[in-house]
Amino acid sequence: MTRFAEGALNQTRFHALFEAAGEGMVVIGPDGVISDVNPALEQLFGYTAEELVGNNVSILMPEPDRSHHDEYIRRYRHEAKPRIIGIGREVVGRHKAGHLFPVYLSVGEFKTPTLEGYVGILRDLTETKATADTLERTKAELESTLQFAPVAILTLDHDGLIQKSNDAARSMLCLPAEDGERNIIDYNQGEARQQQLETLGRVWRGEVNGAEVTLTYTLENQQTLQCRGHYALVRSPHGMPSFIILELADLTPLVNAEQEAASHREQLALAGRVESLGEMAASIAHELNQPLAAITLYAQTASRLLDNTPSADGQLEAILEKIAAQALRAGQVIKQVRALVGKSEHETEVCDFREIAQEALRLGEVDARASSVQLNVDMPTQAIWVNADAIQMQQVLLNLLRNAFDALTDARPVNPTVHVRMGLADGQALIEVCDNGPGVDADIVDVLFQPFVTSKQHGMGIGLSLSHSIVKRHHGTLCYDPASQGGACFKMTLPITDQAN
Ligand code: ADP
Repeated sequence: MTRFAEGALNQTRFHALFEAAGEGMVVIGPDGVISDVNPALEQLFGYTAEELVGNNVSILMPEPDRSHHDEYIRRYRHEAKPRIIGIGREVVGRHKAGHLFPVYLSVGEFKTPTLEGYVGILRDLTETKATADTLERTKAELESTLQFAPVAILTLDHDGLIQKSNDAARSMLCLPAEDGERNIIDYNQGEARQQQLETLGRVWRGEVNGAEVTLTYTLENQQTLQCRGHYALVRSPHGMPSFIILELADLTPLVNAEQEAASHREQLALAGRVESLGEMAASIAHELNQPLAAITLYAQTASRLLDNTPSADGQLEAILEKIAAQALRAGQVIKQVRALVGKSEHETEVCDFREIAQEALRLGEVDARASSVQLNVDMPTQAIWVNADAIQMQQVLLNLLRNAFDALTDARPVNPTVHVRMGLADGQALIEVCDNGPGVDADIVDVLFQPFVTSKQHGMGIGLSLSHSIVKRHHGTLCYDPASQGGACFKMTLPITDQAN
């Protein structure tokens, strides 16, 4: 092949490549004037080849490059110090329609005896940049979500060294601002420490994932922290363990609240038992008083009768005297018992009736759940001030709730529900506890608030009578009203008072 033919072939090959290239290509002379562009470049910038060829290449750039481009070429040719030629960098292109877009530009220089100039290859970076921006934004969002998440999140290495922690974790574990200084297992001693190490090992080896554990940490200030933790292993794209995520939820407030509720429940139960016992003793005393008085009276009458016709040996008189004395003594004992169990002054204070009820409802909810009963509550938005002994009032409400749960557990209606409503009625505080059970037995309705009235196999029949006397002492009322659509409804009223009192 002749040199000429070879040259022609090379030119044809180059042209085919030039035309088919996916990236925009532009050929310019030393004066910056465009001599050729490929279809990819036409598409990239929106110009036709005819519109570009013969124009200065600066047409493809925005200011300030547009005005300075000739100067750039001159400087390069004079100093031969490349700023872009052979290096390539990200620049901004200007579309025919006027909008700007990022492009990656690499420039090559060519020099033949007859021809010299530059070839620019331009790759559109719009999508790449948009993807990178989205990734960057997503990363930043994720980081700030983690940072400000209300749960404590830590990343650990396989030995438990804390690599990263968010704000919640730092404040929960009193961590220093700098990560990478503390080990999570240092918050445990002895066996617990060993256990944590073993769990970390198992998580790292992938034997368990998403493991939930209850952890007790001792902080530097010796405060104890009860937490629920979740471990999860994060692997590299190649499947190798990278780090462990530990998410911690502080259970301390929950544990404290549960303890507080349990002790409150105990207090209430104890107060209830003491009151029940007192009520029972008072009732027994009341019942026995009359027969004892009668015995005394009969013995005294019999003695008086014997005064007229004394017995032969005087033994009968002596016995009757003893009967009267013992009956009198028994009467004294009863009196003492009554004095002992007599109502002590109850301690009242001005409080929001809603708060009293809410505390009782909180305790009642546990029983509701246990009995699978739906507990609906309607509370007013405004405070209702009453002068009451909160503990005693809670006892009353809890007793009404428990009776309702008992009735529903026995009868098992469809959707067993207890509805508690509070409000004002005729200038009084009113609370209703209604259920959709069978309602109170017709046999006992009239004596419902008397002691020892019960329809339950193991009932004491003290609750309602006690509740009645508590409410009465508060100058309120407690009554039973069969619910219109069946079921029982107990209504309690209390006088309202001024908050300032
Ligand atoms: P106890 O619960 O020990 O029986 P109470 O004095 O609290 O004592 O209740 C007395 C009786 O009143 C109960 O045995 C029951 O027959 C009836 N009773 C109370 N509340 C309800 C209710 N919500 N539904 C049906 N009966 C009820």
